[in-house]
Order: sequence, then structure tokens, then C-alpha cells
Amino acid sequence: EFVQAYATHPVYTPPRGPQLHAKNWQSEAALRMFLNNLTAEVAEDPERLVVYGGIGQAARTPQDARKIVELLLTLEEDESLLIQSGKPVGKVRSHPEAPRVLIANSNLVPHWATWEHFNELRERGLMMYGQMTAGSWIYIGTQGILQGTYETFAACGRLHFGGDLRHRLLVTGGLGGMGGAQPLAATMAGATFLGVDVDPDRIQKRLDTRYIDKMTYDYEEAKRWVLEAQQKGEALSVGLVGDIGDVLERLIADNITPDILTDQTSAHDPVNGYVPNGITLAEARALRQSNLEEYKARALKSMARHVHFMLELQQRGSRTFDYGNNLREFAKQGGEQNAFNIPGFVPEYMRPLFCEGKGPFRWAALSGDPEDIRVTDEALKKLFPENTHMINWLEQAHEKVAFQGLPCRICWLGMGEREKAGLLFNHLVREGKVKAPIVIGRDHLDCGSVASPYRETEGMLDGSDAVSDWPLLNLMANTSGGATWVSFHHGGGVGIGYSQHAGMVILADGTDRADRCLRRVLYNDPALGIYRHADAGYETAQQNAEKFGLKV
Ligand code: NAD
Repeated sequence: EFVQAYATHPVYTPPRGPQLHAKNWQSEAALRMFLNNLTAEVAEDPERLVVYGGIGQAARTPQDARKIVELLLTLEEDESLLIQSGKPVGKVRSHPEAPRVLIANSNLVPHWATWEHFNELRERGLMMYGQMTAGSWIYIGTQGILQGTYETFAACGRLHFGGDLRHRLLVTGGLGGMGGAQPLAATMAGATFLGVDVDPDRIQKRLDTRYIDKMTYDYEEAKRWVLEAQQKGEALSVGLVGDIGDVLERLIADNITPDILTDQTSAHDPVNGYVPNGITLAEARALRQSNLEEYKARALKSMARHVHFMLELQQRGSRTFDYGNNLREFAKQGGEQNAFNIPGFVPEYMRPLFCEGKGPFRWAALSGDPEDIRVTDEALKKLFPENTHMINWLEQAHEKVAFQGLPCRICWLGMGEREKAGLLFNHLVREGKVKAPIVIGRDHLDCGSVASPYRETEGMLDGSDAVSDWPLLNLMANTSGGATWVSFHHGGGVGIGYSQHAGMVILADGTDRADRCLRRVLYNDPALGIYRHADAGYETAQQNAEKFGLKV
């Protein structure tokens, strides 16, 4: 039915249920997750194949998307499909324990690695921006960043507010695919939240998926709501339609200093992401079509203005941090010389977790049945009864997270835990405790898979921030280990020229083959994080290497 329906009218809806459409579950998993990335509930702009993060796409063109589906439906167990920046370009001979799909997105020789050159190639149909999980087919909707955002806000609370974010006001910009996780993460951590986005449709999507509580176009109304909630210690989240720079300017004029201040507008892309100050959204779209140079100049200037207000609020006492969108660099290019006085969130809050091999582990139920996720949640709680932090997270997520597309779960796990969880899921599939196989993956933002000097590898102890051998080793380790699909991208998170990173996804289909692949990949992947940080001189990573018997 799916094959026939797709042939006559291609739609981006993943098939659900226990029935196989492709020739094996490995190809079927890639097929379902590819279509899941593009389905309307998940993607920010499915018509343009945009999944999230500015113009992060899953396929280059609709023709490529169709061809990818056709090829996945016929892919054999001894073949691997090659995807070059969202376009299927060929198959190679491989074997059942090798990845079924090998993906490379947005990679350029370093000297040519600029947005200008990339956009020229993109205009000519030669490239696609893969972001991190868009082009590597493991985006799971806004939930994908929810726990990371929650951990960041909670760490900020522990460090600066005695572990209690009640009566604290958190202000930020950008409520898109990833930024949209901020309101729910903030309220889960107990804070009062004000988020600003120029695009009302984006805030509406967060309302529809229960990530935000309220929305308004009126600054005064938003201010009244959040100040009242803050006073009462209520964890309320408010989305305000507007330009973030303008709103910060008004907060300063009104003498309101947020306790925590950050930003997740799509600042990594000064042409197709950030919307310049002083023009409407429609005018910005028109300017993008008519004059890219002018658009970029305005965007850079607006980012400088935006960061200038952030610095002013930082001076007044707001705990201010960059949230992984390269806002500081582009603000600097726009004229704000002090932009880097704002610290990045990784050295501030995330690196200790990376030293344990921890990162955004996630899985999706290919059956499409939410009950399968409940079964995995319960099984994990039994597997790690001592991990109260994880149990608390799973319980909150079960209660508060609305699924988008195929049901899935994010849960940060570290060295040792990931391998155990993967084998447990494979066991659940084998025993028929869940209705279909489960895929396991992660964000590229992980402990051992990224080189990104303004984000994951900012301020490394030994100064090796820009060394990108590590994500390549990660890719090779996961390919030789037998992940089900692997990817290597450039420019995710912070934009073209600023990062290189690797992704992996692995299938638990209840077979012995899956057991072998899971044992290798879910050991190697977090181990790379520990090797990377131990090598850079982090003592906790060195202790963890010893604890887990890693052969450093
Ligand atoms: P997105 O493109 O889906 O959303 C960005 C939002 O910013 C849009 O809704 C847009 O309307 C809004 N925006 C643009 N200019 C604005 C302005 N001047 N004022 C107010 N709102 C404005 O992107 P996303 O997936 O939400 O990602 C946001 C950024 O965060 C990207 O730069 C991305 O690379 C980065 N990112 C960070 C992390 C992390 O862990 N910190 C993870 C993923 C992505």
C-alpha cells in the first residue's frame, strides 16, 4: 500500500507498523527515519525540504527525495547507498554488518569553506545544507534538544542560583525547531520564561506541540504575564512576536534585568536565517530574493546591536551565555568588538558531561506506536535503578513531551550506559515486547563527534579547538563498527566554515547481527568522547578512561 501510494503521490509520511516495505529492516529504518524528518509534524518547512536550523534539509530536491525512497525500497543487504549533499549518487558493494547508507553533507575544502561559496553552489543545485540531524535523518522534532537545554538551564541554576530557578526570569530569542525547546526546558527546570520570535507561525507550532504556554504580539502584555509569574514563582512560558534586539532594548529601558539571558535565533546563517532588525518578515523574505549583500550587511549589523544589548544586560547582572548559534562571531563581524565577552555554553555547562562520554542519546519506535516508547522508558528505569536523575527525566518527559512524527525519546547517557541500553532495546524487539524494531542515534552535538571552536570544542584545555581529526575518527570508528547509517557534515550549528561533525544511527531489530553491531558502535562512539577529552588533558576524562578500561 505504501509503495503504491508513494508511487502515485509521493508524500512525506513514514510507514508505520510491523510490516516491511524495503528488503530488510536496516533499509526500512533509514526509509522511515528519512520520511519522518520531512513529515509535516516534524519538519519546520516540509515543502522546501527544510527540517530545522535555518535551511537544514533532509534531501536536496523533491526529485532526490523521491529517488532516495525508491533506492531504499530496493537496497540489498550487501549494498550501501551513497548520499552526497542530499542527492543519491550511487551504491557500493558492502556486507550485512556495514552501514546501509553513507552520507556526506555540505563538505568543502577548507579554503573555500565560506557561506558565499556554499550559497553559490547551492544556487546551482550542487549542494545542500545538512545542519546536523536534518541531512543525517535522525531529527526527532523539538524533543531532540529538550534534555540538553534542560541540563544547560539546570546546570546554570546549580552554578549561579543555588539550584533553584523558581522566581528567576529567563529571556531568549528564537523559537524555531531547536530554539522551541527552550520554553519547556525552562519551565521543567522551574524558571519563568520569555522567548521572542519574529515569526508568529513558529510560536504557534510550539503552542500546538505543548512546548510553550502562551503567546502574544504585545510587549506590555508579555511583560505583565512574566513579571507576575516570576513574582509568584510560577514556571510559565510566554512567546512574544517581535525582534529580539528590540525587546532587549525595551527591557533595558524598563529596567528589567533577566536572571538568565541567551539566544537561539538562527544566527549561524546571516542570509537564510537571522532576520534583520527594522524590517518585517515579509520584507526580509523579499530582500533575500532581491539583494543578498544588502541582506547580509543588515543582518550582521542587527546581530551587533542585539549582542550590544546582551552585553549591557550582562553588565547589569544577567547570567548571559551563547547558545551554540555563532551569534558572537557574526555580531563581531557586524561591529560589536566585545561579543566574545559572552561565554559559550559548552565550556560553561556541558564539558564535564562530555568527559564522561555523555551526550544526547535518542531512539525512535519504528512501529509508530507510543506504547513502544513507554515500554523502553520502563525498561530503562529497571536497567538503571540507581540513576535517579535519569529516572526523573524519563518521568517528566513521559508526562510533558508531545511526540512529533514517529514516537521517540531523548535521554543523555554516557559510556557503558549506551551499550547496555542498546542491547536492552534489541532484547525487547527480539522478545516481541515492542511491535517493531527501534532505531538508536544521537545528535552530532556529542562528546566525541564534533570539531567546532565556537561551540563543542570552544576553549579546549590544550588549545586543540579547531582540530577536526576527531570527528573523522568518530566516523571511521562507527563505520567499521557497523552503524546502520553514518554521516559526515560541515557547518552544522554554527554555519559554513566553523564546524565539522559526524553522525551515526544504529538499528535494534532483535537479531544477533544487531547485537554485535550495537556492542561495537555504542562502545566506540562514547569512547571517542573520552579519548578526545583525555587527550586534551581533562582529568575526569582520564579517570573515566581508566574506569571503563579504555585503551588510551
Ligand atoms: P530555526 O531556523 O528553526 O529557528 C530560528 C528562529 O529564529 C526562527 O523561528 C526565526 O523566526 C527566529 N529569528 C530569526 N531572526 C530573529 C530575530 N531577529 N528576532 C527574533 N527571532 C528571530 O533554527 P533552530 O533549529 O531553532 O536553531 C536555532 C539556532 O540554534 C541555529 O543557529 C542552530 O544552528 C543552533 N542550534 C543550537 C543547538 C544547541 O544545542 N545549542 C542545537 C541545535 C541548533
